[in-house]
Amino acid sequence: MTEQKEKKLEDIKKEAEQKKCTVQKALYFIEEFLAGPMCGKCFPCSCGSYEARIRLKRLVGGSAANDDIVSIRRIASNMIEASMCKKGKDTAKFILDHIDSKEFSEHVSGICSSSECMEHIKYIIVPEKCTMCGICLEVCKDDAIIGEKKKTYLSGYHPFEIAQKRCTKCGDCIKVCPTEAIILVDAKVKEAVGV
Ligand code: SF4
Ligand code: SF4
Ligand code: SF4
Repeated sequence: MTEQKEKKLEDIKKEAEQKKCTVQKALYFIEEFLAGPMCGKCFPCSCGSYEARIRLKRLVGGSAANDDIVSIRRIASNMIEASMCKKGKDTAKFILDHIDSKEFSEHVSGICSSSECMEHIKYIIVPEKCTMCGICLEVCKDDAIIGEKKKTYLSGYHPFEIAQKRCTKCGDCIKVCPTEAIILVDAKVKEAVGV
């Protein structure tokens, strides 16, 4: 069995910073730290880092409450104080450096302003921009797009819609729409088409 090489902290930091969403950055950092692997020698880190990961996942997954942010802050503060190694302290510091961003509290309300957390966003079709060309229908593997291709000799066609329950948020449709009629919005937005 090949032994996994431990990633340098600077590399984890660089990779985490590539994420757009602040909560995703913190989650990425702690997941990489735990994959390290974390040695488990000191209590605040060995228990706290797992607990912080659970709560960060709740934020990303849309099931978090304000208590989760309070707990993540407490865990990171304890880790900074009581961790025996630099890696533990720096992981906690990275979280504390990001936790005051308004993105954390927005995630509790179901908003990811970077559109990176899939549970917080949805794809919709802007009716005014849809020309009913049918290209998106052909690429959607999940049969989530509802609509009938426009025929020039017929009138009364409706713009296409996305059935949210079937959409797996793969993003294939947005890449092919020639009129940029497909957009990403906050999952809580009620669109005019009512899907
Ligand atoms: S802070 Fe460092 S020494 Fe302590 S459990 Fe975490 S990784 Fe191990
Ligand atoms: S690809 Fe765009 S314009 Fe064409 S049907 Fe789909 S949403 Fe409408
Ligand atoms: S995001 Fe993917 S699953 Fe959803 S409608 Fe577009 S192509 Fe279909």
